[in-house]
Amino acid sequence: METDGRGRAERGAREGEGPIAPPHAHGTPAIPVFLYHCVVDDPPDWIAEFTVTPKQFGAHLDAVVRSGRTPVTISAIADHLAGRAPLPPRPVLLTFDDGFADLPGPTAEALAERALPATAYLTTGAIAPGGRSLLPPAPMMPLARAAELERSGMEIGSHTVTHAQLDTLSVKALAYELRTSKAVLEDALGHEIRHLAYPHGYNSPRVRAMSARAGYETATAVRHALSSDRDERYRIARLIVRRTHTVADVEGWLAGAGARVAPYRDGPKTIAWRWYRRARAVVHGPEFAG
Ligand SMILES: [Zn+2]
Repeated sequence: METDGRGRAERGAREGEGPIAPPHAHGTPAIPVFLYHCVVDDPPDWIAEFTVTPKQFGAHLDAVVRSGRTPVTISAIADHLAGRAPLPPRPVLLTFDDGFADLPGPTAEALAERALPATAYLTTGAIAPGGRSLLPPAPMMPLARAAELERSGMEIGSHTVTHAQLDTLSVKALAYELRTSKAVLEDALGHEIRHLAYPHGYNSPRVRAMSARAGYETATAVRHALSSDRDERYRIARLIVRRTHTVADVEGWLAGAGARVAPYRDGPKTIAWRWYRRARAVVHGPEFAG
């Protein structure tokens, strides 16, 4: 990631970074859903772009506390979208993808110190004994510590088995990614797993439909947009936090500004990038993009 092999145009298209809309552009209060990966000082190069230091992370969490927003987990959004329970005023979500080694350690502690609940989406092939995933090497947490995450206030969701680009898979391979990761987490935790995060955020109408059929109630994407209480249940927008983002960026998002507010239609750049990537996936393996 350090090498920045992908151009700016590609990255912008992938994440839906378009012209910045004013807050509440759709008349819908924005809900920031932050996406973190590693929180360490010395990440492997491939994930460095998406890593924040513990010091940066602490400053972000302090900004969350100062914002007066109510931190909730993904179930609160699911309950709201299903009409079961209203959301608290001005919610905010903190999410963590993949299951890096810092998560059940200093990262969970930093959250717990501030009494902030969070949501962790785990790639089972990267954390289960003998598992395999497409993620490049990095220190990962063991699956055995997932229950500990729950006890510390995190809700656990699936991030597939291998971290594949789901929208490029056959129906059979897609079903495996969705169902096996869910089953592995359910075995480890002893309860149903109801939420999914798409690797790299990549999804399609078929991916969304099969996620619902596999028993997931919500799925988060990337989109680099603010979510809202009218967002799409199977592609909830998240804001990917990069190492270059400042506390002021985080404060802006917490104020409901600095990014578009979902739901919105995919622009032509996003659609073109999707087709390019699907064609390329036939030839090359996937690259990490969140
Ligand atoms: Zn991921």
